[in-house]
Amino acid sequence: MIILIDSHAHIDFDAFDDDRSELFTKMKAQGIEGVLIPGISPLHWKKQLHVANEYECSYAIGVHPWFVGDDVEYDIALLKEECQHQLNNPAFVAIGEAGLDKIRKRNWAQQLNCFEKQIQLAVELEKPLIIHAVKAHNEVIELLQSYRPKFTGVIHGFYGSPQLALRYINLGFKLGIGGLLLNDESKKLHQTVKDIPLENFLIETDSPSMLPKNSDQVRNSPLLLPQIVSKLSKLSAKSVTLISEQLRLNYAQAFECKRFK
Ligand SMILES: [Zn+2]
Repeated sequence: MIILIDSHAHIDFDAFDDDRSELFTKMKAQGIEGVLIPGISPLHWKKQLHVANEYECSYAIGVHPWFVGDDVEYDIALLKEECQHQLNNPAFVAIGEAGLDKIRKRNWAQQLNCFEKQIQLAVELEKPLIIHAVKAHNEVIELLQSYRPKFTGVIHGFYGSPQLALRYINLGFKLGIGGLLLNDESKKLHQTVKDIPLENFLIETDSPSMLPKNSDQVRNSPLLLPQIVSKLSKLSAKSVTLISEQLRLNYAQAFECKRFK
């Protein structure tokens, strides 16, 4: 049976409160064995860690650019404290999601500061970093270059060109691709999947957001993963089995997940 892991799903969000257990049962039945739950803000960590613990999910802790407040130093102090608490838990696999988002640049100076502090923390704790980069690739790459090659991670929700993909890959990063792959208009992303070797990708849904355009669902969920793999299979002309096995290896490599070694 094919085993899939969602490398980025906010399964702790309220959208899943009413049927989270049923969803995990459905996922298991389709071979979706794991979910990595990224962190978004100090206010959300408690519930996130509770859900991760209850459903045996891996998790990252971090401050998402949309949730960066005015007092970055305070949030980073909280982040360091929470990371220290979690350090001995093997399910704590990464820092993030952290990054830069120019669509919501009201707090741009704070975003830059908070992102750099989280890079430094990832270096210090030797954890990979889960990065949210929207319309800010040059700024993200510039910062990553200044800390190269001390750490690695994933550019989540990647939808860029093969050229942009290579810039990140050359810095040691993997690319998380998801539901956008299913949209016919995502030509750049389709080209990236055709041109770039499979070992550079992770799959993700970013649930509950990023619902594909023609979906009849009200929210996105990890149940979308088989469709993403089947689209990858068509674009790269490789079998679903081969792709799933490679993606599993990529996930283990990215997050050094002991159970897959
Ligand atoms: Zn996310």
